[in-house]
Amino acid sequence: MRMAKFGLLMAWLLAISVPARAWTVLSNGHVDGISIGNHDGHLELHVHDDETDTEYEPDDVIFLVPPSVQYTVPSNPPFSFLGNPGDPIWILPQVQIPDVLFLGSSAHEVPGGVFTGVLNVTLTGLSGPGHFALYQTGGFGIPTVFMNTRDGIDSSDQYQILVGGHMHFNWAFSAEGLYGLTVKASGTRQSDGSTVESEPTTYHFWVGDPALIPEPGTAALVALGLAGALGGRRGSVLVCRSPPGPAGQNPGRPSAGGLSLLESRQRWQTARAGCDLLLRAK
Ligand SMILES: [Zn+2]
Repeated sequence: MRMAKFGLLMAWLLAISVPARAWTVLSNGHVDGISIGNHDGHLELHVHDDETDTEYEPDDVIFLVPPSVQYTVPSNPPFSFLGNPGDPIWILPQVQIPDVLFLGSSAHEVPGGVFTGVLNVTLTGLSGPGHFALYQTGGFGIPTVFMNTRDGIDSSDQYQILVGGHMHFNWAFSAEGLYGLTVKASGTRQSDGSTVESEPTTYHFWVGDPALIPEPGTAALVALGLAGALGGRRGSVLVCRSPPGPAGQNPGRPSAGGLSLLESRQRWQTARAGCDLLLRAK
């Protein structure tokens, strides 16, 4: 029965064929990742690369969080929202450092007079192998936390940005792998007082070695609800660049089409080089 279920899962995965295309990997320089635009009184989310003045659709871009920004969670209590002291944490910083993405959010493209007050950007979902937190640190090193998935995701996971404004943050991830961060922007339209919301929009992050960034098609599997395909089972889905080794080398890790399912007792860190964690079902 288990094998039958597994076979069905694999057949389903293989049946999904996503046209091959490449990500635009954004790995350094000033980028306003969550760039809020206005079209006819509606809100839209894009990516704006300030270095090249290029606008991208979020689905076409992946933000790199490289191994060089792996730190450990400090023992300082105000930072306990990042995990336990000593845990690994990968952080794109709110200040610009060489060869690392300087990632922010802007509402430059929203003209004045269309919305009343500030715009809200709210986290509505996260896929990926770990937790995500968005925060700023002030002059005394005390963090202001805007989003944190460690305590769940609800309407408090948001930040406010002025129309025409611009902000930079620390973007923290607790494990290596592929993340999909889904947010929506909302505001109050001045003309009729109605609430306007953007479509929920997913931004992709790769935490770890850039040589292992998966193809967008495999990332799309996440968007297509692979968690549901796992049917409530505990386990992890890996993407492998090459087929796993000979039978017996990784017992209990069947594979098909370069996709592998790890049973819950096995930690994904034990995976052979060349396999990336795509999703872990809890
Ligand atoms: Zn910026």
